[in-house]
Amino acid sequence: MPSEIAVIGGGPAGLLAAQRLAEAGYYVTIYDAQPTVGRKFLVAGHGGFNLSNAEPLPTFEQRYGDRHGHFRDFLSYFSPTALRDWLQSLGISTFVGTSGRIFPTDDYKPAHVLRAWLNRLHTLGVQIKTRHRWLGFAPNQGLQLHDEATSQPLTIYPAATVLALGGASWTKTGSDGQWTTALTRIGIRCVPFGPSNCGAEVAWSAFFREKVGRAPLKNIALQGQGQTVRGELMLTEYGLEGTPVYALTPGLRRVLATQAPAELLLNLKPDLSPEQVYQKLQAPRKGKSLAAYLEKTLRLGPPVPTLLRELAPPAADATPQALAELLQRLPIPVSGLRPLEEAISTAGGVAWEEVNEHLMLQRRPGVFVAGEMLDWEAPTGGYLLQGCFSTGAWAARGIDLWLRHQQ
Ligand SMILES: Cc1cc2nc3c(=O)[nH]c(=O)nc-3n(C[C@H](O)[C@H](O)[C@H](O)COP(=O)(O)OP(=O)(O)OC[C@H]3O[C@@H](n4cnc5c(N)ncnc54)[C@H](O)[C@@H]3O)c2cc1C
Repeated sequence: MPSEIAVIGGGPAGLLAAQRLAEAGYYVTIYDAQPTVGRKFLVAGHGGFNLSNAEPLPTFEQRYGDRHGHFRDFLSYFSPTALRDWLQSLGISTFVGTSGRIFPTDDYKPAHVLRAWLNRLHTLGVQIKTRHRWLGFAPNQGLQLHDEATSQPLTIYPAATVLALGGASWTKTGSDGQWTTALTRIGIRCVPFGPSNCGAEVAWSAFFREKVGRAPLKNIALQGQGQTVRGELMLTEYGLEGTPVYALTPGLRRVLATQAPAELLLNLKPDLSPEQVYQKLQAPRKGKSLAAYLEKTLRLGPPVPTLLRELAPPAADATPQALAELLQRLPIPVSGLRPLEEAISTAGGVAWEEVNEHLMLQRRPGVFVAGEMLDWEAPTGGYLLQGCFSTGAWAARGIDLWLRHQQ
């Protein structure tokens, strides 16, 4: 008689763990607090739906920062190639974009992928119980749930469990982070949540906010805490958003936590060397306004002149040298990060010392943890979903090994 497994949380990590376990012959039931599963996966299309990245493993694993040692195993076990093969098996082809990001072909949206995936889970006999909120542990390896449709409490006794409860942003998708209460109650350390991959706040003047509002800065480089990221930045009424600033949030968060002033350096011409910029600024200005001069010499149009006026001291463009320096190292003071609720992902979660090498909770044998609820973070670009899929597959592997060992 195959063992019964409970997967709590029907996001990408939980759904993948469920599929792997069902394929290995287990009876799997997914419980999720929301009326439907995969709600955060469905919003992943906002701003380009990338499922993974084609970067080679040695650099890929570095995207997980201090956790790269753990991720080497997870990514080797369920790699970006395995992810593409799995998507193909669902009928979803993928391609590698110029940035290395892996996208679905034919403009497939997350809803297409999720539909095909849920059909596969159905075929494999996986049960999905929505509106079932996990409340905590019960004696004798039990799990306490609340059936929100009938308002009835429920205690289940699966042979093993995957917890894949997500982070704590975009709470309307179900990732509310309330699960930390149940874990800390039994002594499991959870690292406090923090926003990751989110916008940065800059105290723009009222004039700047009104004049610029929301405007893109294409093909720039942003530097912070020794790291430089290329891409497109968006100036917004509250500050900055876009891939380069998202990628720098771990460093910004660390500095801001010490109450020290945080600063980013903006390079508006990253394809030119400092000498080349300086050379171009040798052209006589002949009474031209700064805006007209920058447009003519370096093809830097609005909102760059307003940005320089906002951030640089009054005479900072007085000499070509000073202006060249400014254009490639424009300091932007960051006053804070956007709230956790708005963040694309969450730092913090279950501390690594609480799980063994199979992602099983040391204090609760038979309960495994996967996805964003673990204490890791990674930049956008497909690394987040790949991390969730790979830890989901790894937790499923851990359950299989553990149950075989119990027999
Ligand atoms: C706007 C946006 C765009 C994104 N775009 C991308 C992208 O293009 N590429 C990429 O790689 N990543 C992207 N991400 C990140 C990606 O969506 C997440 O990393 C991923 O969904 C996390 O998966 P998860 O399974 O760990 O958790 P989640 O997807 O958050 O799922 C957790 C599940 O657990 C359930 N749950 C929580 N608590 C309980 C409880 N007590 N009882 C029962 N169920 C519970 C929730 O209802 C939810 O269904 C994006 C995120 C956002 C917000």
